[in-house]
Amino acid sequence: MKNILIKKLVLSGLLVFVFQILFSQSLAKIDISAEKQSVLNHLAQPEVIEKYGKISDAIWSYAELGLQEFKSSALLAKTLEDAGFKVERGLAGMPTCFVASYGSGKPVIGILGEFDALPMLSQKGRVPEQDPLIEGAPGHGCGHNTMCTAAAAAAIAVKQAIDEYKIQGTIKVFGSPAEETVISRPYMIRAGLFDDVDAVIDNHSSSKFITSYGKGGNALFSTIFTFKGKTSHSAGAPWSGRSALDAVEIMNVATNFLREHLHYTHRMHYVVMQGGEAPNVVPDRASVWYYVRNTDDRLENMYERVINCAKAAALATGTELAEVRCLTAIHQKHANKAAAELFQKNIELVGMPEWSEEEHEFARKLQENLGRKVQGMPTAVDSLRKPSRVFVGGGSSDVGDVSLVTPLATIRYPGAVPGAIGHHWSIVAGNYGSTAWKGLNAGAKAMAASAIDLLTKPEELKKLRDEFEAYSKDHPYKPFLPEDSEPPLDLNEELMKKWRPLMKDYYLDY
Ligand SMILES: [Zn+2]
Repeated sequence: MKNILIKKLVLSGLLVFVFQILFSQSLAKIDISAEKQSVLNHLAQPEVIEKYGKISDAIWSYAELGLQEFKSSALLAKTLEDAGFKVERGLAGMPTCFVASYGSGKPVIGILGEFDALPMLSQKGRVPEQDPLIEGAPGHGCGHNTMCTAAAAAAIAVKQAIDEYKIQGTIKVFGSPAEETVISRPYMIRAGLFDDVDAVIDNHSSSKFITSYGKGGNALFSTIFTFKGKTSHSAGAPWSGRSALDAVEIMNVATNFLREHLHYTHRMHYVVMQGGEAPNVVPDRASVWYYVRNTDDRLENMYERVINCAKAAALATGTELAEVRCLTAIHQKHANKAAAELFQKNIELVGMPEWSEEEHEFARKLQENLGRKVQGMPTAVDSLRKPSRVFVGGGSSDVGDVSLVTPLATIRYPGAVPGAIGHHWSIVAGNYGSTAWKGLNAGAKAMAASAIDLLTKPEELKKLRDEFEAYSKDHPYKPFLPEDSEPPLDLNEELMKKWRPLMKDYYLDY
């Protein structure tokens, strides 16, 4: 009996040994070229981790809303310029949009970078319960403080490899404003900024380390409807007035009835921007801002029906539909499978960062306070996510349009606490400081390693391009963005004028 047990133990020990050999061989099979090793080594240096960590924290403290990201954009552009990149600023009609380039000729590999914040989410960093820095001020509730920072870190690492190994090709960082309002990319495409790009590495902050392919998110029209009425004394001569606010209300009632007859893929939400200033003055001007979302093939029909609701409201109230101002319009994302497969290998190569006990403890406290599963920080990378055949999500990103003009996939890198809620103070609290530093560094490594693959292995880039060309034949890019739309530079101007002076005291200057 004892002998059998010993035999079993020896056998299982042998099996473990064999597995270990097999596993280490499969690790050894991952081809780490000298160029790739050099970008990984560069990014592993403690002073490099600290540099980009501090840049991310500074942008977190600026928390600038879309198209007002003057300090964030300037810091990122200068960081790239100081590293030797050629930087073009103020592109596509947006002062905070920039492109930083290094290298020469083909292939041209792009990395996207976002840096805008969200309104009303101010929160103290690494405090696991809601505790605003400034009540009502903006905050980085989507981790964009880490994103263009990670892109810059990756591109600068690639630049050093280009110099050291005389790599042919160009690396570009696309400093993309106002992603939270999905504004910049259709305008950047219209301005021709992606014309010479062979492939793009997109990135997003996450609690996971993951990538995916296929269709994702919803297409969207973002439009402000403005009605013009006639003012009057609300009590003295109401018959002389025509309330523009009535038109907004009737439009909203009409669109809410419309919902019943829309496909379940739709999403629609609005805020009233302007609705008068006192009940005793009939408002002669009122406006409502709509997000109209659906799949690429259903969006235009839905949008037309929403416009009809606005027209009907004007007719019913004797007001005029004075302006239909489309701020932006975007497509669904179509992530490239070959790109995702390549990025996945590099995600696995980099692996999940090691979190300290203190970081796990912060995560557990936050999860507890949010009523989420208490699990600490994540310990392993995820496997490649396949596209859903049923529903691909209600949200949207203007990355979608880029995926229709060049092959693209998104590397989601960790840093946020699992269970923290997007566009919520819990992301602001956790995506700052040490976990953000480590997470963005892991993301930068995966991006830099992928860029090296695309620059140095023509056969890998060809796989992406072939898939993209085949897809484009059936899905040629036709922008939803109306030709007369312009970037709404005024959109967050007033809000930032209000908050910036109060936020200045809390700036973490880099
Ligand atoms: Zn985001």
